[in-house]
Amino acid sequence: MKKGLPKRQKKYILYRAERTRIREMKTRLMKTYEDITFKESKDNDLKRENANIDGDTAMGTMLKYGSEGAKQFCEMFLLKPEHAEAHKNGDIHIHDLDFYILTTTCCQIDIVKLFKNGFSTGHGYLREPNDIQSYSALACIAIQSNQNDQHGGQSIPNFDYGMALGVAKTYSRLYRQNLAKGLELLLGMKDASTLVNMVSKKLEDEDGLYPTLVPNERYLDKERKHLLEFIPDVKLINKVQSFAIEKAQAETDRNTYQAMEAFIHNLNTMHSRAGAQVPFSSINYGTDISPEGRLVIKNLLLATEAGLGNGETPIFPVQIFKVKEGINYNAGDPNYDMFKLACRVSAKRMFPNFAFLDAPFNLKYYRPGRPETEVAYMGCRTRVIGNVYDPSREIVYGRGNLSFTTINLPRIALRSNNDISKFFTELDEKIDLVIDQLLERFEIQARKKVKNFPFLMGQGVWIDSDKLGWEDEVREVLKHGTLSVGFIGLAECLKALTGKHHGESEESQKLGLKIIGHMRKRMDEASQKCKMNFTLLATPAEGLAGRFVKMDRKIYGSIEGVTDREYYTNSFHVPVYYEINAFDKIRIEAPYHELTNAGHITYIEVDGDPKQNLKAFEKIIRAMKEAGIGYGAVNHPIDRDPVCGYTGIIGNTCPYCGREEGEIKFERIRRITGYLVGTLDRFNDAKREEERDRVKHMSFKSQNMR
Ligand SMILES: [Zn+2]
Repeated sequence: MKKGLPKRQKKYILYRAERTRIREMKTRLMKTYEDITFKESKDNDLKRENANIDGDTAMGTMLKYGSEGAKQFCEMFLLKPEHAEAHKNGDIHIHDLDFYILTTTCCQIDIVKLFKNGFSTGHGYLREPNDIQSYSALACIAIQSNQNDQHGGQSIPNFDYGMALGVAKTYSRLYRQNLAKGLELLLGMKDASTLVNMVSKKLEDEDGLYPTLVPNERYLDKERKHLLEFIPDVKLINKVQSFAIEKAQAETDRNTYQAMEAFIHNLNTMHSRAGAQVPFSSINYGTDISPEGRLVIKNLLLATEAGLGNGETPIFPVQIFKVKEGINYNAGDPNYDMFKLACRVSAKRMFPNFAFLDAPFNLKYYRPGRPETEVAYMGCRTRVIGNVYDPSREIVYGRGNLSFTTINLPRIALRSNNDISKFFTELDEKIDLVIDQLLERFEIQARKKVKNFPFLMGQGVWIDSDKLGWEDEVREVLKHGTLSVGFIGLAECLKALTGKHHGESEESQKLGLKIIGHMRKRMDEASQKCKMNFTLLATPAEGLAGRFVKMDRKIYGSIEGVTDREYYTNSFHVPVYYEINAFDKIRIEAPYHELTNAGHITYIEVDGDPKQNLKAFEKIIRAMKEAGIGYGAVNHPIDRDPVCGYTGIIGNTCPYCGREEGEIKFERIRRITGYLVGTLDRFNDAKREEERDRVKHMSFKSQNMR
């Protein structure tokens, strides 16, 4: 604004500018609505912003109207002008802007606590479940209910521990049933269940004993004594007990398999968010060494391996196998067989991913026998465990990310003209801007009340929310969550600064670690200053991958290795197009995992069918663990012919039935920002190109590693 203008004139100019802005916004919004209404999603990138939403359906379209309207409302009326400007011009990206005034990102649900004493979904009260089938069904309902209160994902960090309780109840019931059946058969008793129930109630009340999956000698002894009072034949009782154990074990195994199968099926078919998509769900498991927990892990993996009804690869839940020395990593560890099975299933279905509890930055929270201290990851790579707000609660349960905003690193590099100190000065400015913006958003979130989150807060899912009343502000309990600054395109940023990215030069790698290390240091300082959890995120940029680069190319032109592709490289990853072998990629990316405490993931792309070489597959996972990676996964092509059901690699013709791809397309499952997607059609343009550019880091075709 020019100085010296009369006050009234100044006011008028401001008024005019404001009117123009609002007019333009209105036009822009209506244009957006027009595109949503009349363009098919294959022609409209907006409709493919999120690959898990079908933009061609009525509810998918309705969701888009709401989303685009909300975004523009926030830009116009809620954001501070400097935040709106930085977001609009592509310096930063405020994620999930459509939910800015509504909710938080994600949460890790303690399923044990939720099930104890039952819970309400808002449409009815559900009692504490009594067998593994209802445990798995209620786990789905919990995930679905929570999805309606949050815009990100819901994770169950203790899936094996939680479901194990259901297995125990199922076994106990089946053992009694079979005991009664055996007695009826051998003794011709009319109703042996009355006797069995009486005896088992006595054992429960007097000795606190139950039938257990791994037979408990004390239980069997006492039960025998009681039964002898009615049936004076010890040989016969022994026989019936053995029969009951054998049958109950087999039936529990089968019921658990069916429950896990149903769980996976439900999560791939149930809808939430106005019916537009299945909930974003993740589960972590692998460390429960109880017989019941092991049965859950085994059957979940087997059901995943078998696939959905027609053998399709399940897209949800994102599965994360927790790897831990002494538990499942080495031969002789109690769950080593589960780790082996996890590798086998992942080699076929791309899930589970692997979380490494021994990485020093994860291990420091680990307390044996306390599952809530085992780091867990959420599908999109989110990690929440440290807690500056309350250091006595450094746990995963009931906590999640509040919001995150990503900084456009390549732009800062381009702007600073190879001047490193100028780069850091501007990076600091952007970090300050984003911290301020995250705090602004927190202020909006903090003023919400428990009643605004009927499930998340109303049912005590979020940590300490059970201590609040319906009308209470959620401010204090939200402080257990994280506010995250993310980044994209470290590779392009380094290329712009030094001419080489971190895969190409050790010098660039050093600079890369300096940049990301600096960002982390700034997060730690902000955390101490505000006594809140500011964390650094390796952003899972899906919609964002193409947005920044398009804008930067307009300003700076097409620069080789920086702006000449349709996407910026995800977070700290070595570019997908760069030829590098698996072990070098792991070595280069590993140190960034320690720095990105809000979440990270490393992918290795392999060629061919890893099922044919499980040893090599396991070698990749072990290399990740040894290198100090926190969370990793292996990507490999999974194709399926829907006509004959063949799953494997399909070129132009199906190797099983010889069919060529005609009207009925082959399904090609690929991973996009942590989620599997069943069809490339739903990838946005930038992600399609990125997928095309991906080079393999190891080949299982020829056994030898590149
Ligand atoms: Zn076929």
